[in-house]
Amino acid sequence: MRTLFPRATWPAVAAILVAVILGAVALARAEGGLERLYILDCGTNLAKDQSRWTPGVNEGKAIEFSDNCYLLRHAKGLLLWDTGITDAVAAMPDGLAVAGGAIVQKRAKTLVSQLDALGVKPADITYVGVSHTHGDHVGNVGLFTSSTVLIQGAEYDWAMSQPMKPVFAPTQRIEKLAGDHDVFADGSVVIFSTPGHTPGHQSLLVVLPKTGAIVLSGDAVHLQDNWDHRRVPSMNTSREQTLTSLDRIASVLVDRKAQLWINHDLAQSRGLRHAPGYYE
Ligand SMILES: [Zn+2]
Repeated sequence: MRTLFPRATWPAVAAILVAVILGAVALARAEGGLERLYILDCGTNLAKDQSRWTPGVNEGKAIEFSDNCYLLRHAKGLLLWDTGITDAVAAMPDGLAVAGGAIVQKRAKTLVSQLDALGVKPADITYVGVSHTHGDHVGNVGLFTSSTVLIQGAEYDWAMSQPMKPVFAPTQRIEKLAGDHDVFADGSVVIFSTPGHTPGHQSLLVVLPKTGAIVLSGDAVHLQDNWDHRRVPSMNTSREQTLTSLDRIASVLVDRKAQLWINHDLAQSRGLRHAPGYYE
């Protein structure tokens, strides 16, 4: 009997078919949108008096805050959420004192080196989203010279009126948002407005294919205990907006069955997988 392929070539044909099918599956996954989330170590903040963030309680108690950045790999590009403490601090063994000495910032390794370990260069980052413009979130924003910065217009205007301005690169495109923004237009990475800590603070809803929905808090809330007790730090620009934003986050958590990842909560952060591990 004649067949399309001589018997001797069947293993090779089968191998080609398997490769084609696997390739199609890989392509389908890539086309599926959001693929991975990496947590990057973007430093620590050591504070002498926790009550700055928890008015009325923990007076005089020192606290260490985690400071994370998040790299999201989507079929349409890479988004970096927050940029952490400036990389220069990694070369300072005693850290950098800020806020009149009330806080010491430290960085074990640079953001750039952590991205490099994942095979990512600053020029590969499509979007840099910033929760807000405090120094421990925008410390490296200017390194991503070809990225589009996603920031609320209200935050940009406020930040540029402050004595300590974020340092954007002149080549960066600054996309000033007015409220919520679906970054890749498929619902997998959605910026939502949560003002109060600062006038244009924003949080991020991430929907991963296996892990499901996660809300990245930014500084809408600093600690699990603050979340549980709805404590509003004294430095927030609006207590009323903060409480409204916390309600908004709470409803997103219920509606989307989402986890809340609190950026500065060290205990929670230590329990999460950091790069090179990832969530998918
Ligand atoms: Zn902040």
